[in-house]
Parts: sequence; structure tokens; C-alpha cells
Amino acid sequence: MVEKLTGVTQCNQVIPLYGDLVDIGENAPLPGVIWAEDDLQLKEEFLLKHRGHSLEELTVDLETYISDKPAFELIKISYFEATNGREKFLIKRIRERLDQPTHYEILPGKLKISTVTWAILEEELRKQLASLNSLEQLTEEDIETLIKALQEELNNINPEELFKEIEIVEELNTPLTLLGTFKEMRWHNIIQRLQNYLPSSKFTRILDFLDKNGLLREMPPLFIQREMSFLHS
Ligand SMILES: [Zn+2]
Repeated sequence: MVEKLTGVTQCNQVIPLYGDLVDIGENAPLPGVIWAEDDLQLKEEFLLKHRGHSLEELTVDLETYISDKPAFELIKISYFEATNGREKFLIKRIRERLDQPTHYEILPGKLKISTVTWAILEEELRKQLASLNSLEQLTEEDIETLIKALQEELNNINPEELFKEIEIVEELNTPLTLLGTFKEMRWHNIIQRLQNYLPSSKFTRILDFLDKNGLLREMPPLFIQREMSFLHS
């Protein structure tokens, strides 16, 4: 991803700020590589077209980068914000073919990312726990009690605060599909719930099982689906 753009904000057009980096994909600048002929031609055309218009340098906010395609996919449309220091702009990055340069444009309005689904991966958990349970330390009822405790803790989270209460562990296919886990404090509550629901010998056994298998730390039990929409200003 390029980090700087040259923008003509009066015409809503931008191109990368041509330096010694080549924009081949997300977060993949190759130091020392020079721009391809096509890119240089694009730059000439851009400067000619906007002769006399005021050029501004825009800095990309990499944190805002989003796409509905996986990071390794080169042919895709993605979006991010860039600023000239005074104003923020929504930039659309378009790569349609590998043998053609990437295009950028300034879009009016704002990009809104909403979380549409957040759920406990119940089936995955049942499978994973069953596969670790060869010695039958857990009964089916224990597994259901654990899932219930996770579910209750998730229901207890205010959706507005979701990303303060959980941690993202990985992106599945795209930055919009995520696996997550509860933050420490929430795990503490979950263990508290188990303790309330179970006789103490059973509670100790389950906790021991979860701990031994590293499940409380390593297993991301949450699935999160987000979506992009455009707010017109
Ligand atoms: Zn212009």
C-alpha cells in the first residue's frame, strides 16, 4: 500500500505520490523498486490533465484500510482514508488487472463499517472439545454448560462496546470476517459463571481440562462479521 498520494481535491482525483516505492498490493511496498512505465505515463497524464490546479499531498491512514477481498488478492477494490492535514478524504483503490496500474479516486461521503453478526462458534467448539476429550474428562453436559457460560457472557456485552470487550485473533478471509476471543476480564466472568453452575469437584475438573489444553487462551470462540456501507454527505 502506498502511504502518500498526490491529490487534486477540487477534481476528486488522486494518484500515488511517486517515489521509489511500487504499489503492488496491500502493505507490500518493495523498497528500491522503480515505478513501471504505465505508472509513469499515468503520472504524466495526471499532471497534464490537472495543470494549473492545486496539488496536495495526502497521507494515507493505514488503520482505515478495508476491502472485501483477502489481503493476498491483488485484483480487488479497497477503501481507506487519507488526509491533507485539514480534511479527510475517502479513497477508493481499484486494481482491475495485473498488467494495468492501480487507480485511485476520491469518493464523496464516508465509509461506515458495521458489525452485523457476532456469535459463539458453538459447533466448532463442540467439535474441538470432543476431539480433545478422548479420556472423557468432560461429559456432554459439561460442554453444554461451558457453551452456555460463553453465550451468557457474550449476551452481556453491549454491542456498541463489542470491540472494547473482545480481542481480534485473526481475519478469516477478508478484513470483514474475524475470529475473536474475550478479553481477560470477560474470561474471569466466564470462569465465575462455571463456578456458580457446577459442583466444586466438577468445576475444578473442567477448569483443569481447559487449562491443560490451553483453551482459555488459544481457542478463539467468537465469530464476527462486519459489512461496509457508504454514507453520503
Ligand atoms: Zn483537476
